[in-house]
Amino acid sequence: MYTAIGYAAQTPTSPLAPMTFQRRSPRPDDVAIDILYCGVCHSDIHQARNEWGIAVYPLMPGHEIIGRVTAVGDKVTAHKVGDLVGVGCMVDSCRTCEACAKDLEQYCLEGPTMTYATPDRVDGSNTMGGYSSSIVVSEHFVVRIPAGMDLPSAAPILCAGITTYSPLKHHGVGPGHKIGILGMGGLGHMGIKLAKALGAEVTLFTRSQAKAEEARRQGADHVIVSTDAEQMRAAAGRFDFLLDTIPVQHDLNPYLETLKFDGVHILVGLIEPIDPALHAANLVMKRRVLAGSLIGGIAETQEVLDFCAEHDIRCDIEMLDIRNINQAYERMIAGDVKYRFVIDMATLQG
Ligand code: NDP
Ligand code: ZN
Repeated sequence: MYTAIGYAAQTPTSPLAPMTFQRRSPRPDDVAIDILYCGVCHSDIHQARNEWGIAVYPLMPGHEIIGRVTAVGDKVTAHKVGDLVGVGCMVDSCRTCEACAKDLEQYCLEGPTMTYATPDRVDGSNTMGGYSSSIVVSEHFVVRIPAGMDLPSAAPILCAGITTYSPLKHHGVGPGHKIGILGMGGLGHMGIKLAKALGAEVTLFTRSQAKAEEARRQGADHVIVSTDAEQMRAAAGRFDFLLDTIPVQHDLNPYLETLKFDGVHILVGLIEPIDPALHAANLVMKRRVLAGSLIGGIAETQEVLDFCAEHDIRCDIEMLDIRNINQAYERMIAGDVKYRFVIDMATLQG
């Protein structure tokens, strides 16, 4: 065991504050990592504040981790001391079920072990995430950072990138397809870049006209202001796919109407009951599909990192001093970040 420091919430209503805790000594298949950067995902806020009702305290968020390997267990072959590596949303799974066998560890039939607020499969301890000086993770759940990649702007690929890339790939989004990305935050802006790189025609649906020009700079071909009922009506029947990153309850019906027949609305932002209710006619009458998607498997996480390196896709980030993490949460909720905060972990020692 060795001592680590990080920022954690002690209750759903307490701000994140520094905490000293123990990380395990590496097991034979473990990689120990000194964390350099960690992105700040909206899921971190949902969890720190127990908005999904599954939080375990103390809760140390952070699942967009980039760091350097400092030690490896004797059975580790994939990574060595000094390597630059990444850790995303999961740190373990059963590894044998049907989903794990298909490299879909996120759908592990026993439930994956998430990077934070989940019991470790071996010792039962509560996992602690990447808002910390170090982390110890089984090598299978550690990915390689491609050579030459800008490190801070690559961190959000570990969640925002894979969460948008995985459904695009699964549904075969590419040339000839029209896709709408709903919401331009951390996930949404990566969704625009990735869908564009895959060859689709991309439209951003945003609440804010002010984001129109920036969306075009991200690669969007068109922008629809979702609060303008006229613009929404004019888009009826236009899209093959919608990728919905909106983190709060919203009416899906007007969006569904913008899909062609056989169109697919993919939810990634919501894991709560849908409210207001879906009008089933919006599905039935046009054979439309309402789908969901959870992050992505480890092999696919490596794939999206390599894809971003190859296409020079970077997240737009604002570097964050960890001492300002609580203000950063408020700014994210207000939509005041372009488009991902990334913690410079050197500020933990400051
Ligand atoms: P951000 O806060 O960075 O961005 C969310 C965007 O949604 C905003 O920028 C805004 O875009 C739009 N939005 C925010 N509030 C509203 C509102 N009241 N009505 C309509 N639109 C709104 O969040 P992230 O991108 O980090 O995360 C998005 C969601 O995805 C979160 O709920 C997160 O938990 C979830 N998530 C899901 C994953 C999965 O595996 N399925 C993995 C990771 C995250 P605009 O201003 O353009 O309208
Ligand atoms: Zn996330």
